[in-house]
Order: sequence, then C-alpha cells, then structure tokens
Amino acid sequence: MIRSTENHFCARILDRRDISQDLSVFQIDPGGPFTYRAGQYATLGIERNGVRTERAYSIASSPYEDALEVFVELVPNGSLTPNLFQLKPGDSLLCRKIAKGRFTLDLRSGRSNHLLVSTVTGIAPFVSYVRTLYRDWKNGGTPMPGNHKLFCLQGASRPFEFGYREELEGYSAEVPWFKYVSTVSRPWEAPGWQGERGRVDDLLRKYADKWELQAETTTVYLCGHPKMIENSRGTLERAGWKKDAFLEEAYYHAAIKESGGKFETRAAQEKQESLLTP
Ligand SMILES: Cc1cc2nc3c(=O)[nH]c(=O)nc-3n(C[C@H](O)[C@H](O)[C@H](O)COP(=O)(O)OP(=O)(O)OC[C@H]3O[C@@H](n4cnc5c(N)ncnc54)[C@H](O)[C@@H]3O)c2cc1C
Repeated sequence: MIRSTENHFCARILDRRDISQDLSVFQIDPGGPFTYRAGQYATLGIERNGVRTERAYSIASSPYEDALEVFVELVPNGSLTPNLFQLKPGDSLLCRKIAKGRFTLDLRSGRSNHLLVSTVTGIAPFVSYVRTLYRDWKNGGTPMPGNHKLFCLQGASRPFEFGYREELEGYSAEVPWFKYVSTVSRPWEAPGWQGERGRVDDLLRKYADKWELQAETTTVYLCGHPKMIENSRGTLERAGWKKDAFLEEAYYHAAIKESGGKFETRAAQEKQESLLTP
C-alpha cells in the first residue's frame, strides 16, 4: 500500500507500452499537481517492507499532457526497475512532488541550433522538447524565439529499442525545424534494417557536417549512456565545441574498475542520492 507523504504524491500507472522485455513506456497519473518544463526529470519510487527506493526518470511527455510519461530500461539487478516492471495499470507508486533538472532547451546563449544526441531511453527529454514545440507550432505560435532548429541522433543496439522512432520520424517529415536520425550498432541482428549503422557517437562528425552545424551556433545535448556522453564530448571538443556549449544528462556512472570492467556502483548511488535530495 502506497501513501502520499509530505514530499510525494501517490501516483498511479495509467498504461504501459512494452517495447521489449526490458524497455517500457509508462503513462502515469502523478497523483497531484505536478508541473515541469520539457527536459526535466521526475523522481519515482516504490516502497516495499518499509523501504523506499527512488530513482530519477526523464520525462518524455510534454507539460501540455495530462499524463506523465517515462521510458524505462530494466536493469536486471537494479534496486527499483525490477519492481517497477512488475507494475500494471491501476498499480500505485511514489512520485516526488517537484520535478527537477536543468536539461532544458538553451534559448539564452544565442546559439540557434540544438544537436540532441541520445542512447535508447535517453531520447525521453528530446521527445518532451519536440512534443511541446510541435504543439505550439500547430497552434500557430512561435515555437521558439528566433530561428531555432533541432537535430536529433538516437543510437540503439537493435531497431526495436528506439521506442519513439515512428513518432519522431513523423515530426521530422512534417516540420522545418526538426531532423531525426536513428542508428543501430548491431545491424547484423536486424537484416531488414535500412537506416544508419554504427554507434551514435561515431556518426556525430558525419551528421554535424551534413547538417552544417558549427560550434559557435550549436548547443549540444548528450543524454543516456555515460560512455556515449564521454566519447561525444571528446569528438565535438576536438571539432571546436567549447565546454559551455554542452548540456549532459548521464543516466548512471560508468567509472571502470581497474579489474573486471564492471560499473562502479557507489558513484551511481551517490549521484542518485544527490539528485533525490529535496
Ligand atoms: C537525471 C537522470 C534521469 C534518468 N532518466 C532515466 C530514464 O528516462 N530512463 C531510464 O531507464 N533510466 C533513467 N535514469 C536512470 C535511473 O535513474 C536508474 O538509475 C535506473 O533505472 C536503474 O535503477 P535501479 O534502481 O533499477 O538500478 P540501480 O540499483 O540504481 O543500479 C544497479 C547498477 O546498474 C547500473 N545501471 C543503472 N542504470 C543502468 C543502465 N541503464 N544500464 C546499465 N547499467 C545501469 C548502476 O550504475 C548500478 O551499478 C536516469 C538517471 C538520472 C540521473
């Protein structure tokens, strides 16, 4: 039984769309007035036997939507996701009352191009940006001050992992201010795949050139796998991008231990704990 607290709403799963055994899109009724900006994250949790476990999830829905939407990957030995993946429509969970994060569109620096780079679930904040801007654009509003354009690259191992590919390709075909390209790093597992091949960080230079993106006029947003973030930043810094042109949202820490090559769990935990501090 989940009860709301001073800091949490008792939220409820409205629906879920299973992309695969370990990827799911959850539609959630946050359980109270929950305001956020496109690009922010919600903190969701579950309480079991008196122990509360909470984690950050980028919000894929637009602030215009009633339901809160998140795109979650199951981490088999994780503390929260195995329990989260048991939930069905009607089940309850905790949602912190306040959305957090600064991974929002940079409309202040004067850079009018926005290069959005993600791995799998890291597409979520970009879906929120585009849904929000599309709604404004459809209603005849100016989506953004000035002549801003969004260029999005999403990488995954296999084609079924993208989650939002059809939706994003639809926007890309319709609007003049958004481009989207998806790439798979294991194309041999999907012989019918006609799209880009290779890791998203390996395609950055190609698409920065193709889209004529310049360091002086382009803010870069990196979201998802920590190694992709590190590699992408390195590639673009070598191409002239300055430190202040990057916004990053690493979903976990991948400090490699000297032996074994396993992820350093304490760093991930510390990052999570610092994010969860109200
Ligand atoms: C700002 C922010 C936004 C986030 N948004 C999302 C999101 O939209 N969707 C999403 O699925 N996750 C997102 N995450 C990650 C999420 O908060 C959890 O860390 C993740 O769901 C794992 O939680 P867990 O309790 O099951 O595993 P934990 O018990 O926290 O982790 C167990 C181990 O797995 C590692 N690990 C954690 N995540 C992964 C992963 N994806 N792949 C491989 N190893 C991993 C950890 O470093 C740790 O070593 C976000 C994280 C942050 C900081």
